[in-house]
Order: sequence, then structure tokens, then C-alpha cells
Amino acid sequence: MSACALCSSDGELSEFAVVPKEEVVALCDVCHPQVSGDAELDENHWRCLNDSMWSETPAVQVLAWRMLNKLSATDWAGGLLDMLYLEDNLRQWAEYQEVVAPTHVDSLGIELNPGDSVVLIKDLDVKGGGFTAKRGTAVKGIRLVENNHEHIEGRVSGQKIVILTKFVKKQ
Ligand SMILES: [Zn+2]
Repeated sequence: MSACALCSSDGELSEFAVVPKEEVVALCDVCHPQVSGDAELDENHWRCLNDSMWSETPAVQVLAWRMLNKLSATDWAGGLLDMLYLEDNLRQWAEYQEVVAPTHVDSLGIELNPGDSVVLIKDLDVKGGGFTAKRGTAVKGIRLVENNHEHIEGRVSGQKIVILTKFVKKQ
């Protein structure tokens, strides 16, 4: 591999994995950050897809399809996309999107991890507990509630309670 799989540049190449498969292609330092989403798309640069979309390498076809799809608002890219026929299995590969699991974050958007300590930022009536957890109360060793990224569990006054993440601040 001595040239960029998408634009044929022989600039500095690095490997890019076309997830979810483990196939990698070599991309130049112009293509790579734009493909990975770390740099804004330079529409003119992607005219190179006009050639590389006809590659016989499935991973390159898939990448070309993805990039054309991102640029499909432009006439030329939309036209190329119409011409780029992918077999069903390649089409599925191309359409794959990584699902980013929602994370537990505190009121400021800071990620919470199991075992963290948090402070309540408002008085909370504890349902069924018959008491109010006061603002400023520290809750140590929290547990994250699976399947609900707005809920954590912690002990206040010796009772295990569920707390909304938007009412806590990480310490
Ligand atoms: Zn390139």
C-alpha cells in the first residue's frame, strides 16, 4: 500500500479500520481526518471518489459510499451515489453506524463512574423514605442504574435511594 485508497495521494498514509469489520485501508493525512469525522469535509477534495468508488476492494467501495452519502446534498456526489451499486452485504456494511451508548453524566455533563462520590445540588424528597435529602449532602460510592442513564443509586441516611443524575454534581 503506497497510495491513499481514496484519493491516490502518496502523502503520509495511516490505516483506517472500516468498522464493524476489521478490514483496514490506507488513507492519506487529508482523507483520514475527514473520514473519521475529526476534520470538516472539503467538498472539492472528494471529487477523488469519482475514481475510487470503482475500486474492486470492498472496504474502499464501502468508504466511498459513506463519504458520498455525507456529501449527497451536492449534485455531483448525489449523482455518483446513484451510480454506486453495492451488493446487499456491502450495503449493510456501509450503512453500519456505531451506536454510542448513553453515559451517566452529572448536572454539568461530567461523566459518572461506579464508585464516584457526588453532592446533591437540591433538596430531594425521598419517596417512601419519609425524609428529605438535603442539598449539599455527599453520596459516596454511587452505583449506575443500568438501562437508565438518568438514574444512579446511593446511600443517604443509611437508605439506598435512586437519584436523578441531573440533581448531582461529581466531587
Ligand atoms: Zn487521500
